[in-house]
Amino acid sequence: MKDEKTLERIKLLHPKLRDEALEIYDEIVSSLSGYAACRFAYTLRTFAEQDGLYAQGRTKPGAKVTNAKGGQSYHNYGLAIDIVLLVDKDKNGTFETASWDTKTDFDKDGKADWIEVVNIFKRYGYEWGGDWKFIDMPHFQKTFGKSIKELQLLHTQNKVDKNGFVLI
Ligand SMILES: [Zn+2]
Repeated sequence: MKDEKTLERIKLLHPKLRDEALEIYDEIVSSLSGYAACRFAYTLRTFAEQDGLYAQGRTKPGAKVTNAKGGQSYHNYGLAIDIVLLVDKDKNGTFETASWDTKTDFDKDGKADWIEVVNIFKRYGYEWGGDWKFIDMPHFQKTFGKSIKELQLLHTQNKVDKNGFVLI
């Protein structure tokens, strides 16, 4: 299944990642052939959106969801992707249930679907949040060797394209 929302969100990624992300997504679609599909839940998050998230559980109600302020996440530069699985629980052909199940082998090929997706991203040189000390299973990022500090500096110096993406 090709997910329209995923295709839209790929267009929001940093221009250096867009074509490759489409390839990655195509590979994912052909790898998952059972009762779960993959959606890119978040790609680009603007600085303002990130500041809004950071405020949750601090100056706004709710639980804390992030330790990153605007500019401190690779999402803010269009260099990160969060995934979610969409599961067809009643097996009627619509993938209606969001799932963060990282263990189930929905397509019965001997590998958990989530890990199949992880392996595809890794093959394209992405880092996976599941390998970090503070585990973030849905998160993938491609940094081109740039630290957040370097990206912030490029942004501050206005070294950006016409759409605001840092020049890397
Ligand atoms: Zn993320």
